Parts: sequence; structure tokens; C-alpha cells
Amino acid sequence: MAREVGPNALLSVVAPVYNEVKVVEEFLVELLESIRDCDFPGDFEVIVVDDGSNDGSGEKLDELAAGHPGEVVIIHLARNFGHESAVCAGLEYCRGDAIILMDSDMQDDPAAIKPFIEKWLEGYDVVYATRSSRKEGFFNRFLFRSFYRIFRWMANIKLPLDAGNFALMDRRVVDRINKFSERNRYLPGLRAWIGFRQTGAPIARRRRHDAASRVGLRGKWTLAMNAIFSFSYVPIFVFRVIGFVTILLALATIAVVTALNIFTGALISDWASLLITIAFFGGINLIGISVIGEYVSRIYDEVKGRPKYVIDRITERKRQS
Ligand code: UDP
Ligand code: MG
Repeated sequence: MAREVGPNALLSVVAPVYNEVKVVEEFLVELLESIRDCDFPGDFEVIVVDDGSNDGSGEKLDELAAGHPGEVVIIHLARNFGHESAVCAGLEYCRGDAIILMDSDMQDDPAAIKPFIEKWLEGYDVVYATRSSRKEGFFNRFLFRSFYRIFRWMANIKLPLDAGNFALMDRRVVDRINKFSERNRYLPGLRAWIGFRQTGAPIARRRRHDAASRVGLRGKWTLAMNAIFSFSYVPIFVFRVIGFVTILLALATIAVVTALNIFTGALISDWASLLITIAFFGGINLIGISVIGEYVSRIYDEVKGRPKYVIDRITERKRQS
């Protein structure tokens, strides 16, 4: 079912930036070129969220926005709130009928905008990029691949494999995502959870312009934990299974020891075996408690209800008409 789009349609492109001063200009030039090439039947806006950069990206972006009145808006956050929060700020600010979310580190290829729009015009509400190839080190590729597969097995939603944030979403999808109150977000998960008509487009993921990922291993770990703990109860289930197995083991041991005592008169009295058993089950208990702690700390975050980001100022130059 093709989508009917009027001439007043608006395309929004949302991109978070954290310390990318070396490429913001190249990024914007390439992006604007791709937008003009994509046959979108209406106007467009680019929303760049400066996530508390301290390398001059913010000033550079203001300068660039001044050269594109009515086209480029810069949202400056009050500090570095992290990728997911910056994305939230952009999604809540943008007004487009179709919204494209992409990174600004040159990894997401703006050439994908054209096929995204084509699919949207065909009637799809979400078109996500599936990474047909990744120009990243072996270790990172291994981590990403493993994560997507483990998550798919654990999660209570069906998430497409190898699909990250880079996607087009229809206004009705973004409106719903904006209404979610969740603080520890995993956007590809929320996007899949919403439903509507979704499809993937294989897009090669390019190399980062420099080697230093701004999200880092710790940030990726947090994101992976957010994904798993907000879409899965498997961690708790695993501990229930371990609990049952442990009880069975203990019962079996009691039976064996009692039988030995009755039939041979032997007594098991070695303190070492006792110590090992206590340490082993103590360890399992602690891990179990920490798993519950993960859920509890997330509940605490939600109850506190702090905003996901704070905006410092917005740079927007109106078009001269
Ligand atoms: N980013 C951000 N805030 C952060 C970290 C990253 O806005 O705290 C931006 C960054 O500029 C980039 C995108 O989010 O455009 C993805 O970051 P990165 O490339 O480091 O993540 P990766 O591609 O390694 O997952
Ligand atoms: Mg990147």
C-alpha cells in the first residue's frame, strides 16, 4: 500500500555529535547532498544534537548552521548525557513526517537515505539498516555479532539481527517512542517492540573517521545490559533453574551420605569439602542477588524520574523569505 504524501511533507534527519569536530563539516555536506538527491516529495530539516562536546564541535556546528538557514538546527545539551539521551533529545524536537536517525561519525552512509525513503513511500513505517558488512576490528565485530545473537535468544521481542540505530521511522512510530517514559533505553529494542510495518535494508557500515569510538567499551556494556534487562527476564529464570538444580544436588548428596553411613558406617567429616561447598553456593547466591540488583536499580532510575537530558540552547536560523 503506497503512502500518500503531500507537498508539505517534512523529512527530519537526527544526528548526535560528541567531539567530532574533525568531521562535522564533511558529515553535513555529504548529508545535505544525499538529502537533495533522495527524491523526498517535500522539505527537510537536519537536527544535530551536540551532546556536550568539548573539542569545539558545538561552535563549529553553530557556524555551519548559520550557512544553512531553515535547514540545520543545533541542539546543545548542557553536558555529555550519552548517545541514547542525545538521540532522545533529537527525536523529541524534530517535526518530520519521516525521521531518519544516524550517527555523525561517518559510519552510517547517507547514501542509504534514498532507499529508506523509497521504502517509506511504499508504505513501511520503519526501515532499519542491517549491517551487511562492518569495517571494524575483529574483536568489535565478534562482540556485536555475539550480542545480537544472545539478545535475540533472551529477549521477549523479536529483534532483527545486526540492526542498530540507523533507521527511518514514520512520525507515528516516533510519537509513540517519545511517549515512553523509560530512562535506560535501548532504541532498536523499543523500535522493534512498537510493531507497524517494518523492513530492513542491507547497508554496509563504514569505517569510523578516527579509531576512538566515543561510546567506548563501558558504554557499550551499559547499552547491552539496558537491552537485556529491559527486554528479558531470562537472567532471573536462569537463577531459578540453578536454584532447583542445586536443591536436587543437595538432596542427592544427603541420600548418598546417609546410605554410605548406614551400609558402611563411613562418616564424611572433611572440613575442606564443607568450605568448598559454602564458597560455591555463596558465590552463586551473590551473583543471583546482583542480577536482582540490576532490575532494582533500573526500577530506582524510573522512580526518580529525572529528565533524560537538559538542553542548554538551540541554534536555529530562520530562512529569509
Ligand atoms: N555520541 C554522542 N554522545 C556520546 C557518545 C557518542 O552523541 O556520549 C555520538 C557520536 O558522536 C557518534 C554516535 O553517537 O555520532 C555513535 O558513537 P560512536 O561512534 O562512538 O559509537 P559506535 O559507532 O562505536 O557504536
Ligand atoms: Mg560509530
